[in-house]
Amino acid sequence: MRLITLLFFLFLVSCSGKENNIDLILYNATVLTVDAKNSVVEAVAISDGKFVATGTNQQIKQLASNNTLHIDLLGKTLAPAFVAVHEHPAISAVFNDFIDLSGFTHDNANSVWQALQQAAQSTPKGEWVYGSGLDTILISDLTLPSKQFLDELIPEHPVFLVSQSLHSFWANSLAFEQIGITKDTPNPGHGSIYEKDQHGELTGFMTEKASAPFLVDLKSPLRVIPSYQRVLQQYIDAGFTSVASLGYNFPPLAAKFAANYWTTPIIRQFFYMKEDEFSYLPDSPDNGDDYFRVLGVKLWHDGSPYTGTMNLFEPYLFNEITAELGIVEGHTGGSTIEDQQLVNYIRKYHQQGWQIAIHSQGDKSNHKTLKAFQGAITTPHDLRHRIEHGLLLPKDKLVDAKKLGLSPSFHINHIFYYGNALQRYILGKQRAHQMLAVKSSQQQDLMPTLHADSPMFPADPFSLMRTAILRKTHSGQEINPEQAITRQEALRLMTINAAWQLHMDDKLGSIESGKLADFIVLSQNPYQLPAEQWLDIQIEQVWMEGARRK
Ligand SMILES: [Zn+2]
Repeated sequence: MRLITLLFFLFLVSCSGKENNIDLILYNATVLTVDAKNSVVEAVAISDGKFVATGTNQQIKQLASNNTLHIDLLGKTLAPAFVAVHEHPAISAVFNDFIDLSGFTHDNANSVWQALQQAAQSTPKGEWVYGSGLDTILISDLTLPSKQFLDELIPEHPVFLVSQSLHSFWANSLAFEQIGITKDTPNPGHGSIYEKDQHGELTGFMTEKASAPFLVDLKSPLRVIPSYQRVLQQYIDAGFTSVASLGYNFPPLAAKFAANYWTTPIIRQFFYMKEDEFSYLPDSPDNGDDYFRVLGVKLWHDGSPYTGTMNLFEPYLFNEITAELGIVEGHTGGSTIEDQQLVNYIRKYHQQGWQIAIHSQGDKSNHKTLKAFQGAITTPHDLRHRIEHGLLLPKDKLVDAKKLGLSPSFHINHIFYYGNALQRYILGKQRAHQMLAVKSSQQQDLMPTLHADSPMFPADPFSLMRTAILRKTHSGQEINPEQAITRQEALRLMTINAAWQLHMDDKLGSIESGKLADFIVLSQNPYQLPAEQWLDIQIEQVWMEGARRK
């Protein structure tokens, strides 16, 4: 009994109750703290935007003063706010209000072209019609459109379309005319082309930077800033209070302005700069504040499994699906950076103290990326350099990753959306069953995380966690189930691990005394609900630093 009294006394001291002037108490809750023991408590006390105590209803209520606001959560679940570690909000802002033509929404070509036609019918004649998500993998009867096809389908509007991979684009004749691109316009180079037929006429198809003139108006500040604000609010609505942007960023001043940084920021923003954005790097990694910080650099070692640019040891499968993607027989993809250049970049930015995040999907790419880190870094560090996506990060390389101080962030919904296609058409069964070694990374204490890479996949934390738990494709097929994690682990990956990767784990990612009061209120307790039902969980409230944001 004396021990209990002593512990209770220590509890009161540790949360230094009344002198903290508790602003807010939330009680009658199931609080998933995501502390080291995954403790579950009933109530929390908040003062000055921070959690100052967690415990039973009785313990916490005793801390109240006259000014304390009490909120009865009526048995709902309170959890740390999610942390989005790898997204592209600026790209989302550009493409935000495009017509959705993706295989997530449509399952046949008819449905895709009907959606586009309907969009044109509700758009005044002569105005632009934009669509995104064209995808011949998920929509197997889809043929990529020619200029002539689009001219016939939409004769009275300029049309501009983007593939799901964001690397390929299409336009109709009116669009080319308005932008001023003709068959005589030179290709931008570096693989970016305006495709021509055997008569030298534009086919309507273009790749990569060839699309730039079509994007100028879409990127105008008048359009893009309100769009960026909507995108940031969408992350909040999904339960995130932090978002990390991994390249393709707006200039920092624009991103600050758009997020209302100088008043009440919409969300916490963290940035990694890619090669042509290195000039935005501040003088020191010790920059910014809890709402806005540049964390480091983003490098690419390879590309995407859906464009043949993922770097593999053994060739892609060769069949009509991969042929449609432009993959030739025996193709293994390549690296987008010279080996020595990668070592040089790692060495340079590591020495300057920046965190480094490297896009690496294929087995060969991961192999070479680890080798580059080995070549560049010789001493222990705590910079938490990141491997991005890690589709085929080999399980037997995780020990090396640990020694090098690396941490993977997994593109987990490759399984849900493309798992069937990866297994059947792109990688084959054996390699598909080596994908996304999440469990092994967790066991190796690599602090793995999950991400959506939006706009690639929807930034929905419960969808990401559900896939990591179930390892099921959209048709219910299991992929590499030995890498499945538990519900508790899934929540850790989206909260405390994610905060750790952003060097914010001392302030975010769990509900513990002293941390910022970023949390969500859920309709149901994910620890008690089968993962199959996690998409039914409603994010009813979102709070950032003790203030309600949703
Ligand atoms: Zn990305």
